Amino acid sequence: MDFSLSEDQILIKQIADKFSKEKLLPDYQKRESDSCIDPDLIREMGQLGLIGSDLSAVYGGNEVDGVTSGLIIEALAYGDINVSYIQLLASLLGGVVQTHAAEELRAEYLPLVIQGEKLLSLGLTEPQTGSDAANLRLKATRDGDDYILNGEKASISMATCADLMVLFARTGAADSRSGGVSGFLVPLDLPGIKRSRYTDLGTRVVGRGSVFFDNVRIPASWMLGDEHKGFSQIMCGFDYSRALIALQCLASAQASLDQTWQYVQERETFNAPLVKYQGVNFPLAEHESIIEATRVLCYKTLSLRDSNLPHTKEAAMVKWMGPKYSVNAIHDCLLLHGHAGYSTDMAHQQRLRDVMGLEIGDGTAQIMKIIIAREIAGNASVQYK
Ligand SMILES: Cc1cc2nc3c(=O)[nH]c(=O)nc-3n(C[C@H](O)[C@H](O)[C@H](O)COP(=O)(O)OP(=O)(O)OC[C@H]3O[C@@H](n4cnc5c(N)ncnc54)[C@H](O)[C@@H]3O)c2cc1C
Repeated sequence: MDFSLSEDQILIKQIADKFSKEKLLPDYQKRESDSCIDPDLIREMGQLGLIGSDLSAVYGGNEVDGVTSGLIIEALAYGDINVSYIQLLASLLGGVVQTHAAEELRAEYLPLVIQGEKLLSLGLTEPQTGSDAANLRLKATRDGDDYILNGEKASISMATCADLMVLFARTGAADSRSGGVSGFLVPLDLPGIKRSRYTDLGTRVVGRGSVFFDNVRIPASWMLGDEHKGFSQIMCGFDYSRALIALQCLASAQASLDQTWQYVQERETFNAPLVKYQGVNFPLAEHESIIEATRVLCYKTLSLRDSNLPHTKEAAMVKWMGPKYSVNAIHDCLLLHGHAGYSTDMAHQQRLRDVMGLEIGDGTAQIMKIIIAREIAGNASVQYK
């Protein structure tokens, strides 16, 4: 097993690290009060090759592998987990568009996504369903060469600032579950689309919200993949995003851990720096161990993907471990800063709130454990149809 990085990987990691520490980290908290991420910052990310870098060179990507995408997202999330959503959504959904969209759509939109000119969003969850994702109701009704969209997508990251949505809609019978779901690429400025923004505990910069479709007409050629097969064709790519999401969380925790190691060497109680006390350095050492172990499993997942080997189980493992252990680590970092850590002047509370969202987003821990059990014990472990 080779843990060394190639020269190209080292170079792109250095670029991402520098951008993150100079441009993202200093304004992580200030950005929270803004409604969206500065478009110039996103364009700069695009120019540096930090958005959708795994996409095809035909559209402006660098065709990097999954491991390299992981290095990029980890570097970005160290500075600002919210900004790293842009890379996450571009890699996941840009990959969906690249694989499943008609060439004219790919050629029109992917270069703009990679340059940071257009933002993608994922439209899966609905008001009545999240974990049971195939149980969706938003309807796409065929009308000649078009489809007409009616319904609501709920809990959508970047709901108010995204330009495009990879949308899952029901094209089959109401009870057809995943067998009657199709994917579409939908520009979000069409007549009949309205958007709202939630007041969230964290990831406020990402702006989660609802998107409403009221008789929205789209050409049938905007379908992704085959009619009624969008769910199974597209969702298999979500193992990729699970590893990337875990790395986002771990990087955020690492930023708090690094800051806390520094602080406990400076702050003194009882005539000694805090770091002298095992009550202080043991929890930090434990978090470092768990964060590192989970990080290694993330890269194993990405490496399996790059080798076209099964990685569903590993992806589900890191998707619950990454957010959970990162929340635990950040919580202890906050406490080890004493009263100062409880102030909103410090970033730990924001990291705690931001990372906590990913304990739910893209699938909860329970759903991940159902997947792991199913991968190991087969359908005997599945309680639902
Ligand atoms: C920060 C954030 C970002 C998000 N971004 C997006 C996005 O961009 N696009 C999008 O489409 N969605 C997005 N979501 C929605 C997210 O994917 C769903 O919230 C998630 O899948 C859970 O669905 P739910 O909220 O409906 O909870 P429910 O499915 O109602 O579940 C409620 C609780 O019950 C548990 N539960 C459910 N079923 C079982 C079971 N069989 N066994 C044991 N426990 C169970 C769950 O784990 C959870 O704790 C986002 C959510 C968050 C918080």
